[in-house]
Amino acid sequence: MKLTFFGAAKAVTGSCHCVEVNGHKVLVDCGLQQGRDERDNRELDFVPGYIDDVVVTHAHIDHSGRLPLLVKQGFAGNIYCTRLTAQLLSIMLRDSAQIQENDAAYENQKGKRAGKPPVEPLYTLEDVEKTLRHIVTCEYGWELDISDGIKIRFVDAGHLLGSACVEMWLTEQGFTKKIVFSGDIGNRKQPIIRSPQPITEADYVVTESTYGDRLHNVKEKPNYADDLARVIDETLAKGGNLVIPSFAVGRTQELLYFIREIKEQGLVDSDPDFQVYVDSPLAGAATEIFSGDLTGYLDEEAIDHLRGDALFRRTGGAPVRDTDELSQPPFLLNTRNRTLEKNGKRVKLTQVEYSIVKLFMENPGKALSREEILEAVWGTEFLGELKIVDVNIRRLRIKLEDDPQNPSFVITVWGFGYKWVCPDTADKAAEK
Ligand SMILES: [Zn+2]
Repeated sequence: MKLTFFGAAKAVTGSCHCVEVNGHKVLVDCGLQQGRDERDNRELDFVPGYIDDVVVTHAHIDHSGRLPLLVKQGFAGNIYCTRLTAQLLSIMLRDSAQIQENDAAYENQKGKRAGKPPVEPLYTLEDVEKTLRHIVTCEYGWELDISDGIKIRFVDAGHLLGSACVEMWLTEQGFTKKIVFSGDIGNRKQPIIRSPQPITEADYVVTESTYGDRLHNVKEKPNYADDLARVIDETLAKGGNLVIPSFAVGRTQELLYFIREIKEQGLVDSDPDFQVYVDSPLAGAATEIFSGDLTGYLDEEAIDHLRGDALFRRTGGAPVRDTDELSQPPFLLNTRNRTLEKNGKRVKLTQVEYSIVKLFMENPGKALSREEILEAVWGTEFLGELKIVDVNIRRLRIKLEDDPQNPSFVITVWGFGYKWVCPDTADKAAEK
């Protein structure tokens, strides 16, 4: 038996530990180094193919963000996690890939002018899609034999939806030892998320210690809803707007949960039915997961409050589907979630491609010059070349058109720009 620390040692982020039993190597977490801890995310400390399987404690990027890199470098095993962690991973890793791609594009735009060679993104959306195919999900409390001599069980860590401590029973040469990886541990008596469940036995414990030197006062139960209501009331009474920066996954849903409570109890006198906007596609997607099947993950009361879009509906927050959809069959654009469907199937778009489609769908049948598209999508500060419009249109056609060589939706207006034609809009044009 061997335990090796590859990350989050002398640092907070980049969690990555390796357990080796009977020659089988299992990683516990494979996180991205972030902020001050960032050493070199490109370097995994082991050769490709060295790791057999991965166990993921929770979906936060500092515990999961290098999984796509691992897969890109040839990992072929299973990634074990809870069902809700898997759901959150699917949105958070995609978001992470988007950031990696955007960062690389920005670097390359800068670097091109300075004559530097192009950099590759750490990983792409495609790498993430491949990664998600390696995931094997299970529920809290299940015992899973993942290889000869390695058994695992997830226990609720009360840190994030789906988060877990991992109990591991390792058997080698007739001896069994139990090692527990705490993952990140939550506080007690929190909104929505359950309190961490206790584990009573272990031979070894590997624990996080980020807030190890602070004492939480668990006896005094804070009244979050009252405190938040007071701030909202004071601000709205003065005619102001309240802007709350918030983590997209977890914290945003907690805020919506309190705002629902505040509205139901009528705690804001100045405007009891105040408007709420969630301005983040990732937060929108995460809130949908918080509205899904949470059986076994939260207390019944919390599940009741969250069931079927309750967070959105009862707070008056996003997404307000019927007014945020632009339907031009076979396309359906959702401007709240920033998604596009073709014949009911999601088309995966980059942010730039989404912005172009939105511009097109808002101007059906109208010829748009390259300059207009550049300005609308990239903004007036963009210093790049007009060619970038053509490059993106080409990629967009591959995603949208049945035959990209003979496009029927994104039409070239020679010597000028492009035009969006949908059967729907074409009919209307013909009627006129
Ligand atoms: Zn975490």
